[in-house]
Amino acid sequence: MSRSTSTPATPSTPGPVRLGARARTAQRPTVDPVVSGGFWYDRRRTIARVSIPQGPGLLESAGNLHDLRLAAGAADGPFRGDYPFMDSDVYKWLEAASWQLAQAPDGERDAAAEASLAEHVEKIIALVADAQQSDGYLNSWFQSGRGKGPYVDLRWGHELYCAGHLIQAAVARHRATGDDSLLRVARRFADHIDATFGTPDSGKPVDGIDGHPEVETALVELYRETGERRYLDLAGYFVDRFGHGRLGGEAYCQDRVPLRRADNVEGHAVRQLYLLAAAADLAAETGDDELGSAAARLWHAMVATKTYLTGGVGAHHDEEDFGDPYEMPNERAYCETCAAIASIQFSWRMALLTGQARYGDLIERTLFNGFLAGMSLDGERWLYVNPLQVRDGHTDTGGDQSTRRTRWFRCACCPPNVMRLLASLEHYVSASDGSGLHLHQYLSGRYRGETGRGLPIVVSVNTDYPWQGRITVTVQESPDVPWTLSLRVPQWCRDYTLSVDGVPARTPDEVDAQDGWLRVERVWTAGDTLVLELDLPVRLVEADPRVDAVRGCVAIERGPLVYCVEQVDHPGGGLDDVVLDTSRPLSAKDRPDLLGGVVTVLGAGYRRRPVPSGWWPYQDRADAADGDPASAVGRGEPVELTAVPYYAWANREDGGMRVWLPTD
Ligand SMILES: [Zn+2]
Repeated sequence: MSRSTSTPATPSTPGPVRLGARARTAQRPTVDPVVSGGFWYDRRRTIARVSIPQGPGLLESAGNLHDLRLAAGAADGPFRGDYPFMDSDVYKWLEAASWQLAQAPDGERDAAAEASLAEHVEKIIALVADAQQSDGYLNSWFQSGRGKGPYVDLRWGHELYCAGHLIQAAVARHRATGDDSLLRVARRFADHIDATFGTPDSGKPVDGIDGHPEVETALVELYRETGERRYLDLAGYFVDRFGHGRLGGEAYCQDRVPLRRADNVEGHAVRQLYLLAAAADLAAETGDDELGSAAARLWHAMVATKTYLTGGVGAHHDEEDFGDPYEMPNERAYCETCAAIASIQFSWRMALLTGQARYGDLIERTLFNGFLAGMSLDGERWLYVNPLQVRDGHTDTGGDQSTRRTRWFRCACCPPNVMRLLASLEHYVSASDGSGLHLHQYLSGRYRGETGRGLPIVVSVNTDYPWQGRITVTVQESPDVPWTLSLRVPQWCRDYTLSVDGVPARTPDEVDAQDGWLRVERVWTAGDTLVLELDLPVRLVEADPRVDAVRGCVAIERGPLVYCVEQVDHPGGGLDDVVLDTSRPLSAKDRPDLLGGVVTVLGAGYRRRPVPSGWWPYQDRADAADGDPASAVGRGEPVELTAVPYYAWANREDGGMRVWLPTD
């Protein structure tokens, strides 16, 4: 490897977020990142080989493609499916497939499978183009005669929501392949929306917003892709129209209070987070500090008061709502998989806006836990809701909110959303600013950034994270000037060591991550190696006492992984009587044979003796305190506990599960 001189970085494929040249932040996602091995590479391979190729068949059997054919006049019969946003599943799959087709060759590719995928993508793009009206409008539900007509029922119609997903798919297709066939469709729809929506003094016919935010962040990205400022302005118009009662003033639709004045997240979790992602985008592009401050304020309030240990958000089944501060039931946790994805998308935009490490902490926690649990290990089944407990004797009602993994949903928003995030995951890992390169997440692969003068920096990362804490970063290419390599020290990490070419770190910035970043500045040479060793003890964590649902309980973590216990590993009784004995040590055990290869955590506990009185599950506190031997709850039979990573739960037989364990 030789030190490069002054070759500028070549233009290449950006990911889902590409900041504009005039954006008011120095952070830029690195270009052409490659994930080449390890934990997330395996998940990427699963969706590439299983989930994404199965998409067209599932979209056919669920009726989504039929509905587009209806709109195109190429099919007869009734509209299939129950929702006006059936088209969005197609667009999310197109986005996932586009990112997938943009992957660099890795020696494992199946040329025939890729050709088949590309053919499906082209056919579906042609179908979408055929379905578009001559004026640019496109929504198969309304074009098939359902609903009251275009832009009449904005609260429920999801027309702009679907447009947003179409735009994001089109941008992905264009960035991944250079093909603009879908981008032309998306722009015509965006132009139709731009000609329709505006303030009363604009002369446009509708002053309104969609009940489900999504088009806003997509319009920012369309501005970034095309340079057309009016798309950015339209996004700004929409974001500021929420909160003024145009949709009835409901928190559900983000219409109770303007974002700029809100003090906590509320209402439908996915809607709130897509809107906040757009606010972060707008703040980055326009320098609107009030909007950026509101986004940061709401992010902090969400993390401090409404985020589950898994990173999941949205406590209520009713209206898929965030719930009140600290209201986080375990067995009734909603934690929609889409909300985890939206949280990651919002946090990544905040990381780019601010450069702060804490956003990477939440992304990591959500990725490894609340998000990944939404997908089965084999990539064929999904969870829409992600509870932290399934009780003994649980009656599963089936449907989309089942605690059993499901092949596809009646409302199938989550599966293609998982696919599009995983297919572009490498773009959420690293960023570059004038100082050098920031590694926000640790995935084996190659990342390329620039110095402030536009000189290329290339590093490779090699790690068995999250199973091992050793992260080796090797400089592949470096200019002959100093620059800073910044490494995020995860919030959960108490002890770590850092060395460069075998020499322990020395400067305060290298030794002490005050703000979450370890910074190593020097004139780097190709071949230089930095090793960050994160200590990975098994940890017990407890919650703020205001989280009533888990008071008196602890949860097990190791590294970024949250653990749970499942009934299948504990024959002989239910889990609801199990108590963890925290005086006994916990140990980690490598289990390559289990659940695709995991590290389990072993501990000791006991099963409580049942309350003898039986018929009434309460007793006078005085009786309990007096220690009536007939009714007191005492220690029962010893139990050896095996905890597995939460993301891997529900991949074996049905049964109880819990993340939080009582300690007495
Ligand atoms: Zn969903």
